[in-house]
Parts: sequence; C-alpha cells; structure tokens
Amino acid sequence: MHYVSTRGKQQPVTISRAMRQGLAGDGGLFIPKIFPSFNLEDFSQNLSYPQFCEKLLAPFFVGDALAKKLNKICEQAFDFPVPLKSLDDHTYLLELFHGPTLSFKDFGARFLANCFSQLSDAQMTIMVATSGDTGSAVASAFYKKPQVKVIVLFPKDKISKRQQKQITCWGDNVHAYAVEGTFDDCQKIIKSAKNISTANSINIGRLLPQMGYYAFTSLKHFKDKGVEPNFVVPSGNMGNVTAACYAKKCGFPIGRIVIATNVNRVVPDFLEKGIFQAQKTIPTIANAMDVGNPSNFERLQSLFPVFSDFQRALSAFMVSDDEIKETIADLFNRTGEIVCPHTATACYVRNHCLTDDNDWIIAATADPCKFESVIEPIIKKELPVAPALKKMLDADEYYDVVTLDAFKSS
Ligand SMILES: *Cc1c(COP(=O)(O)O)cnc(C)c1O
Repeated sequence: MHYVSTRGKQQPVTISRAMRQGLAGDGGLFIPKIFPSFNLEDFSQNLSYPQFCEKLLAPFFVGDALAKKLNKICEQAFDFPVPLKSLDDHTYLLELFHGPTLSFKDFGARFLANCFSQLSDAQMTIMVATSGDTGSAVASAFYKKPQVKVIVLFPKDKISKRQQKQITCWGDNVHAYAVEGTFDDCQKIIKSAKNISTANSINIGRLLPQMGYYAFTSLKHFKDKGVEPNFVVPSGNMGNVTAACYAKKCGFPIGRIVIATNVNRVVPDFLEKGIFQAQKTIPTIANAMDVGNPSNFERLQSLFPVFSDFQRALSAFMVSDDEIKETIADLFNRTGEIVCPHTATACYVRNHCLTDDNDWIIAATADPCKFESVIEPIIKKELPVAPALKKMLDADEYYDVVTLDAFKSS
C-alpha cells in the first residue's frame, strides 16, 4: 500500500515513512493511494476489538516493515473497552473515552506510539499541538518510550485545568509548553517545523486506527439489527469524521455521516455555500473543537473533490454554547446520562436536526469528568473523578510558558 499527498507532489511511500514524516513533502497530507474493499464475511462475530482492527488495518500496511508487528501493536494500543450504550430505541452513544486519558484521542495516539516503538531505529522528536485532549493522549502514549522526545504545545489559558494537568503531569521525555496564542497558532508552528514528526491528526498513523470503531460498531449493529447505522460526529479538526468516511469507503455498513460543530462553523458554512473560508478561532465550552482552520478538511476534499458529492456524503450542523448547555441539562433530566460538551453538540444535532426513526450512533468523544467546570453548574451535582484522572490531578506539573515569537526565531 502506498501513501500519496493530498497536493499530489510527493513520491509514494509506505506507511512507516508516512508516519515518520507526518506532513507530506509538498505541505499536503498523506492519504492512502487506494482504499481496500473488504469481504465483510471475513469479519466473524467473535473477533476481539484488537483482532478486528488488525484485520481491518492489514491492507494499509502491506509492503511495510510494520506489517508483521500489527498484531502486537493493536493488542497493546487497544487494551480498553469500546462500549455502545442505548439512549433510546434509535439512538446510541458510542463511548470512545475509556482509554488512559479519557478521550477518543487515545485510540490514535496509542496506535501511533506503538508503531513508533516498533520502528525504534533512530532517535526522534514528535511535536503535537493540542486544543485539549490530543496533548494528554499523546503524552500518555509516548511517556518513557525510549528514543522519542515529545513536545506538546497548548494554548495558554484556553484549556480546562484538568486537561492541562493531564498534559503537564509527565516530565521525563515529555516537554509541555503553554503558548501565548490559539490552537491554530500552535498548529501553524508544527506545520512549519523542520525535521520533526507530528502526532496530530494530520499524521496518517493516528487517523487509520480511528476507522476501527466505526467499522466494528457498524458491522455489529448491521448483523444484530439488519440496518445500517448512521453516525453523528462532534468535530473540530475533522480527523474523526474523516476516519468515519474512510470506514464507509472500505465497504462497512455505514449510512449517513453527520458533522456536529460548535460555533466554529467553517465546515457547515462550506457545505452551505461551497466556499471554504478559514476563520479566526472562537473559544467555546466544547474547546477541543475550537478550530477555525481544520487540517483534515484537505483529506475530506480529496475524498470528495466534486462539491455535490461532498454534499451528498456529509451534512454539518453548528451548535452554540447555549444549545450545548441546554442539551447537557435536558439529557441529564430525562435520562440521567451525563455527556461532555463535545458529545452534547452531537446529541443536540440528533435531537433537533435529525428527528427521524433511523438508527443513529453518536460518537461520545470524552469522559464528562474532564469538563467538570462546565458541567457541574448545569446539572448542579458533583461529577465523580475517574481513577485514571485522579492520579494525574494529584501529580506535579512540568511546563514552560512561551510566546509565539519564541518559535519564529527557531
Ligand atoms: C479532538 C476532539 C474532538 C474533535 O475531533 P476532530 O478529529 O478534531 O474533529 C471532539 N471531541 C473531543 C472530546 C476531542 O478531544
């Protein structure tokens, strides 16, 4: 399997090279040259989640040194549950937050870290920009991995205290920086850094493993219920929704794929007007989705180069902070279920924009206990802290504050 650039000016490479390089040589993003199509009969009901992912990802690793290691990589990366919870007869929550740092970012970060540790032939530095949850997932996944130095950039004072603690509690090979700027500034720094790999979702090695839960859940749902489920994905940088589109492209029984955003509405606007216009980031209470220039849009566009195809494949809805709060309160009062502000955007979209009797699966992207300062005043109740988080909150913090100028000179 070869990987090429969204901008078409990079020699095809295999997966480990694409992962190590991060960004393609022409400034574009790596994408698979072709998508395999699977015989769904090959995925028997009793495969474990890691075994399923190994089978799914195998064609993407053909011809690469990592192909033989895929079993071990999947077993080590996906060592936590992926439960599907029913909210009502036709609405489900796919809980993607049972990894060590309590967000779906653990899937990609742990997969990438395990790939890199199998490629341990050289010292490398990995940089990551985070609007909250990527930094902690990457730091946790790479912590104390020999040969790898990790640099995490997060926008100062724009992430929650608990998110910050999860990024700064590591030390050792993890170097955290609070940047005086926005997430988009942090992302720009990474894109201009030379000879450094990135663990952001611009890295194809983070994106491919995220196909796993869409493929796994859709197939199980289809076998159990006889219908294709539809998905609503809370989105910012558009990595998670790209992975959903990739799973569908490979032939998995996925119906509609719908994007929920906060008021950073670049993609809903694009789908309405046909013009992509990057915007300044607007801070919201779903802060991991505060992205004004989503990187993975380029991958979506190369998947659907014709606008009408793009519109047929994806819909997008924008959700305000007030609507997020209202949704958290309403869901809690009606069902007792507590969702994080990101997941709430998708719940809002399901309840107000997609009011049909089809089966919808909402990607629940983070554990609500990471966002207690938003949620507790709404539900007027204390959120229990997950044990994994408690340990990080109690640890010391290691980080430096830097200005944007500090990066311009280096
Ligand atoms: C990163 C993140 C998102 C957005 O995912 P993208 O792949 O950037 O679209 C949504 N919810 C949570 C909790 C996140 O951490």
